[in-house]
Amino acid sequence: MLIEGDYGRRGIYTIVMTVSIRSIDHTHTLTLVPANPSTCTQPGHTAYYVCDDCGKWFEDEAGTVEITDHSSVVVPAGHTPSDWQYDTDQHWKVCTVADCGVVIAESVAAHSYGDDDVCDICGYIAPTPTYKFLEGANGQWTQSSGGPLTFRVSGNFARFTGVKIDGVLIDASNYTARAGSTIVSLGAGYLQTLAVGSHTLTVVYTNGECSTRFVVSPVSVAPVQSPQTGENAAVPVFWIALFLVSMAGFAGTLVYSQKKKDSAK
Ligand SMILES: [Zn+2]
Ligand SMILES: [Zn+2]
Ligand SMILES: [Zn+2]
Repeated sequence: MLIEGDYGRRGIYTIVMTVSIRSIDHTHTLTLVPANPSTCTQPGHTAYYVCDDCGKWFEDEAGTVEITDHSSVVVPAGHTPSDWQYDTDQHWKVCTVADCGVVIAESVAAHSYGDDDVCDICGYIAPTPTYKFLEGANGQWTQSSGGPLTFRVSGNFARFTGVKIDGVLIDASNYTARAGSTIVSLGAGYLQTLAVGSHTLTVVYTNGECSTRFVVSPVSVAPVQSPQTGENAAVPVFWIALFLVSMAGFAGTLVYSQKKKDSAK
């Protein structure tokens, strides 16, 4: 505001007041402030426009979208992360910017396997695990039992693919398998088809397998429970039969040696 005064010819003091009022609806004169990318350590900002006249910031060249919060254009400093890198224990990312290459601290973490042995974060596949039998190793199944023979193996059920008996994959109808870690039950119907004697059961996973032996017996032997049950009642009969067979063999040997003696005479 400018005020000027002056005495006129007739002694009248004349005041002239000049007031500049900026138009509220003036046409902005916008200048582009180009984007300034952030670096690993220095923040940057996105592009915006500033009015040379009123100083307001705008998103667009036409000056229609004002930026009232000037911090909204700021791009924080930060590293440029690589793809996941990993070792056997953990995964991490490094900065891909030349001359930086730091390990990005917040990316470092132990593998997270979830339900399998593939890391859900970085995709790392754990080395082939050593599977083992938790229950049922060296089991025995008697033909008179009528029940299944159950094994429990340490592997994750999600990776279970099948069962081999004596090295040959058997049809899935011959057993049931369920999670926990892996529980396999050979069905009685299938077990009845196996010869009496020792067999190998192998539980197969996508990334390994493990085996144990089991025995199919005609009747239960070496009972540890009460001998009064119907199942175990067969035991004495078995042993008596075995005894008789042995005696017959013994008798045969006696006869044979007797004949030898006879012929030697
Ligand atoms: Zn303006
Ligand atoms: Zn960096
Ligand atoms: Zn991982």
